[in-house]
Amino acid sequence: MTDSTAPAPSPTVQALLADLPVFDAHHDAIQLTLDLGHDLAVGAPGQFDLPRARRGGVGASVFACWVDGHFALPGAPVGSAARAHALIDALHGLCAEHPDQVRLVRTAADLERARTDRVHGAVCGIEGGHAIENRLEELERFAERGLRCMTLVWNNHLPWIRSCQPNAGAGVPEGIDDFGRQVVRRMEELGVMVDLSHAGERSVYDVLDVATKPLIASHSGCNAVRDHRRNLDDDQLRAIAANGGVVGIVFHPGFLDEDATEDMKRVRHGAEYRAAKGANYTETYLAESAVMQAQAAPFALGRVVDHIQHAVEVMGIEHVGIGSDYDGIEHAPQGLEDASGFGALAEALLARGFTKGDVRAVLGGNMRRVFGMVLPR
Ligand SMILES: [Zn+2]
Repeated sequence: MTDSTAPAPSPTVQALLADLPVFDAHHDAIQLTLDLGHDLAVGAPGQFDLPRARRGGVGASVFACWVDGHFALPGAPVGSAARAHALIDALHGLCAEHPDQVRLVRTAADLERARTDRVHGAVCGIEGGHAIENRLEELERFAERGLRCMTLVWNNHLPWIRSCQPNAGAGVPEGIDDFGRQVVRRMEELGVMVDLSHAGERSVYDVLDVATKPLIASHSGCNAVRDHRRNLDDDQLRAIAANGGVVGIVFHPGFLDEDATEDMKRVRHGAEYRAAKGANYTETYLAESAVMQAQAAPFALGRVVDHIQHAVEVMGIEHVGIGSDYDGIEHAPQGLEDASGFGALAEALLARGFTKGDVRAVLGGNMRRVFGMVLPR
C-alpha cells in the first residue's frame, strides 16, 4: 500500500474536507480488483483505494470500467462487452462485500443518501463506447446493471463516433452518425451521463447538438494552457458550459504540460521502464508506473491549478470539476500522488485566491449537481 507523501492539510482544509465533498469523475481503479484481486476497501498498490480516498475527502467517484481498444479487435480473448461486464461484476462485488464503506449509486437519491450516510457513492462508468458492441440493447443491459456514466469513445475510433486521435481512416464519421445520435438519446432516457473526454473535435459539437441534458468531459485539460488533442479549446469549454455541463480537470502531467510529456517520453525509453513487466496488462502497467513515478521529474501541482483556473475563467465557477484519471496515469503531480492528496489541491486553490465555496464547487459540488440532474429520480 502506498502512503501519501502529502503533508497533513491545514485545519482550514481539514474542516473543508471533513464531510467528504470531493467527487472524482474518473478513475480506473476497478481493474486492479478484476485483474489482480485487490480489495479496494482494504487497500491497493495503485493510486486510488477507499481508505486513501476517505483521507482525501472523496465522498463519491465514477468507477470507470475502462475497456482497452484491443478488446474490440478480431481475435481478442474476450469481447469488449464481456470485459466491461466483468469489470462491473468486480464493482458489484466490492459494494456487496463492504456496504459499510461503499454503495452503488443508481439514482440521484442514492447519491445524496450515500453522502448523508458517509458511505462512498460509487457511480458505475464505462470508458469506451465499443463496450456496447454497436447495440442499443447492450447499452440497456449495462444500464440495468447500474451503468450511470459512459465515455462515448476512447482512443480507438468507432463506426459511430470519431475519437480525438488523428488518422481515422475510412468508415469513421467526421463526428457522430445516426447511430451515435441514438446512443446519446437512449443514454439520456436511461439516466446515463454522457462523457465527452477522448471525443474528436467535431464529435463534441455533434453530441452537444443532440443533448438535452447537461453532460461532462470527465478527465480533460485546457488547450489554451497546453495544446494537446485530449484537451478542450475555449470554444468547446464555452459550449459545454452553455449546455449546463461540467469539465473535470485531469491530473495527467502529459496532457497538462509539454515539458512533462517530453520528460515522460525520456523515462519510457529508459532500460528500467522497458524491463518493467508483470503477469498481465494491469500488473505491467503498475510496474511501469512505479518506474515512471520514481524517474520522471516531479510535476508541480500548480500546473493542475493553472488548468482549473483557465477553465473557471472561460466557463464560470459552476462548470469546472475534477477527474483524476487515477490508475490510468503513470505519473501524478506532487502532493496528488494518490487519492489521499486532495487536501493539497484544496490548499493550492485557496492560495490562488479561490474562496472556500469555490473550492468545494470545483472539488465536487459541480459534479454532484449535474449527476443529480441526469441520474434517474
Ligand atoms: Zn481516459
